[in-house]
Formats: sequence, structure tokens, C-alpha cells
Amino acid sequence: GDIVDKDQTPVRWFRCNTIKTTAESLLKEFQHLTRVYSIEELKLGTIYHDIYIPNLFGVFPREKITNTDAYLKGRLIIQDRASCFPAYILNPKPNIDKVIDACAAPGNKTTHLASILQNVPGSIIAFEKDVKRAKILKTMCDKAGGLKCISVQQGDFTSVNPLDYPEITGFVVDPSCSGSGIFGRALYDDDSEQDLKEEIDENRLIKLSGFQFKIVKHALSFPNARKLVYSTCSIHAQENERVVIDLLRDPDVIKNGWTLSTREDVIPTWERRGFVEEFSSFGEDAVKLAGGCIRSLPKIDGGIGFFAACFEKK
Ligand code: SAM
Repeated sequence: GDIVDKDQTPVRWFRCNTIKTTAESLLKEFQHLTRVYSIEELKLGTIYHDIYIPNLFGVFPREKITNTDAYLKGRLIIQDRASCFPAYILNPKPNIDKVIDACAAPGNKTTHLASILQNVPGSIIAFEKDVKRAKILKTMCDKAGGLKCISVQQGDFTSVNPLDYPEITGFVVDPSCSGSGIFGRALYDDDSEQDLKEEIDENRLIKLSGFQFKIVKHALSFPNARKLVYSTCSIHAQENERVVIDLLRDPDVIKNGWTLSTREDVIPTWERRGFVEEFSSFGEDAVKLAGGCIRSLPKIDGGIGFFAACFEKK
């Protein structure tokens, strides 16, 4: 993490790994930091307790974290706040839900899911297509103490047969994207594999959104899935609201009974929602649909640019 341009990063966020410790005892390791009550007040020697995501803390970017025992032993996991939204929104219940993380490496959202699922054995299947990244995923899950709860499957998620997974109730789908919400790239290697030097041209976005649509649609065809969170670290509507709209208009998705969640089920207190204009073809439902989506703007909202939307079957 030292290649990071720290001045560009407004907050360094870390999550308490409740598989290995509690927030209370983790905070004892950071007693030397003074608590502040807004991210704007962060400076060296201070810590902020997030109000949206449980067990999440923010420190000044130059605060030493990666050399602490807590980091080295996996009691804390460095993860941007917005990147914590998907698992928190999905909110799976231990001993009840079994979930798939369809695009899992390096595993930030996977280990967050394991933490929420209280590490109950056999709760998560984590797919990762890339061989090298699947190895990193396994190492990360192990470091977090989650390998009993998480089964890592190296392979293409779109090629598995949904009928082989009747036990699956929920999904996090965080596919490859343009990464246009990312800055301070090295810090956030959790969120995309793309090359920043590459132009974000229209054709590339069309290709990416086609893939994003396909992979979410596949997940929405699992027979007993009831909830799915789709996310990207892109700021482009093409990869975000427009993918959601194509899914909401898809005959198979409609036939399977999927709808977009309402704001009250998707971190209602977070102010920045999906772009209403994008949903204008839905007429008076536009505001409601945008409310089922969350956006985070790069830097302005205290971290990376991010998008999340929640689908559910009632
Ligand atoms: N969710 C991860 C996290 O929070 O740490 C980040 C995931 S990254 C944005 C997308 C990942 O999806 C990449 O590692 C990529 O190799 C993987 N991927 C792309 N297509 C896939 C597919 N068809 N099946 C499984 N994984 C895929």
C-alpha cells in the first residue's frame, strides 16, 4: 500500500473483522487515537466510527495501519466504505441464508459476508474466474479466518447450472467494470482489474455493461434466490442505472418475480441515490427506482466512486 498517493485519499477506511475479534477489543489496539465525529475532522492521531456500516472505522490516510499487528493478523481489513455497502445491504442471516459471491477476488466483500454470516460453515460460495486471482482470494479468506464458511471455486460463474444450487438464497455480484470511480489505484486493488491508462471509450463501456447484464441475469435465474446486490466501482450510468434498467425490463427477470428494492431497505439514511433522470422512462416510478440504488461520488463522499442496487423477490 505504499505506492498510494495518500493525499488523494480523503479517508482510509478499515473494517473490524468480527470473525477474529470484536470492535471493542480492536479499538483497544487503537486507544492512542482520539475519536472524531465527522470525516472532515480527521487528522493524524484521530479515528472516526462510521454511522452507516457497523464495525467500520476511518482514519487519516497517513495514519500507520498496515504495520499494525491487527492488520498483519487479519483482525482488521482495509476496505473502502462504499465497498462495504453490498454485503451490508444483502444482510444475510446466519444459519438461514446461503449466498454466492459471483465475482469474488480479492475477497473484500466475500470476507465481509463471512463476518455478517458469523462464519457459519458452508454459508458462502465464492466464484472467481481468473486462476491467479482465485489464489489471492483463497489467501485473503484464509487470512480473515473464513475458509470454513467460504468455499472458493475457480471458474466462470456464468457457466454453472443454477439448478445445481437450490440452497442459494442471496447474491453479491460485483463484476469487472471500468473502474472509473477509483483513484489512488494501488490502495483499492480490491475493486477492479482494469488498466487506468486505457481510454474509457463508448465501445468499452458497451462491452462491459453487456457482460454486467449477463452475469447478473444469470444470478437472477437461481431457483431459490430472493435477494441480490449488484455493484460496480464505476461512475458511468451505462454500467450502473442502465444495467439495472435493462434487467428490470427483461422478460425472464420479470417472469421470475424480481423487483428493485425500495430505499427503506437499502441504507435509507445515505443521501446519494441512483440518478433519477436515468429512470425517466418509468414515469412516476423514477424516483422510487432511483431510491433502490446507491451512489457514492469519488472523494466528495469520502472514498471511491461506487454504485449499488438491490433486487429482491418478495
Ligand atoms: N468483489 C471483489 C472484492 O470486493 O474484493 C472485487 C471483484 S472485481 C471488481 C471483479 C472480479 O470478477 C475479477 O477478479 C474478475 O476476474 C472476476 N470475474 C470476471 N468475470 C467473471 C466470471 N464470469 N466468473 C467469475 N469471476 C469473474
